[in-house]
Amino acid sequence: MFVGHYSVAFAAKSDKNKIPLWVLFIAVQFLDYMWATLVLLGIEKLRVIKGFTAGSMLDSYFHPYSHSLIAAVIWSSVAGIGYKPLCDWLGYAYRKSAALIVGLTVFSHWILDLIAHPRDLAIYGNKWKVGFGLLNYRDPEFALEIGLLAAGIMLYLTRNVMPEIRKGAVIAFGVVLVVIQIGNTYVPRTPLTDKATAMGVWVFYTLFVVVAFLIEKIGSRRQTNAP
Ligand SMILES: [Zn+2]
Repeated sequence: MFVGHYSVAFAAKSDKNKIPLWVLFIAVQFLDYMWATLVLLGIEKLRVIKGFTAGSMLDSYFHPYSHSLIAAVIWSSVAGIGYKPLCDWLGYAYRKSAALIVGLTVFSHWILDLIAHPRDLAIYGNKWKVGFGLLNYRDPEFALEIGLLAAGIMLYLTRNVMPEIRKGAVIAFGVVLVVIQIGNTYVPRTPLTDKATAMGVWVFYTLFVVVAFLIEKIGSRRQTNAP
């Protein structure tokens, strides 16, 4: 699962919980940030094999600290608990219910990976692996990613009051994400090394976080100044 994860970030944001979209963009990929970091450190193991599944080249055969069920529960709790200090630090409005949402958003990554991944997600450590393997079916997996993303963005646009210009930017961002997913799923390319793949994850995911941050700035001054 790739851009489909961001559907949860868009869907989780509301005017009531006031969780910044960029925080949710980190939350939905929190497990992959851990994973990329641990792959770069040589602690978790990844092979990049052409045609490993129909929709992905990644054979993530050892990722107990980022992608086991128990690890996912622990990281989700850490993120939920860490949300208050983050809000205090950055001066954001904080609600207990928002911390719960951040925790659940982190956990959503595991559920979506469970649907997409081949049987490589351990329950605990490197044991009892599960995964429904939708990535073995390229078009349905792609359709799910795009369907989820579209639904998430629709929810975001209906649940949050925002100026028209920001709505346009959100839709444009959604289109860019779809194009990136098309490239990821359908454009053949030579496999990168494990470390280069992990670096790519860091770079691209962080770029998306920056875009999410900037998008919620668009038109915000005009909105507050409005009578
Ligand atoms: Zn993942």
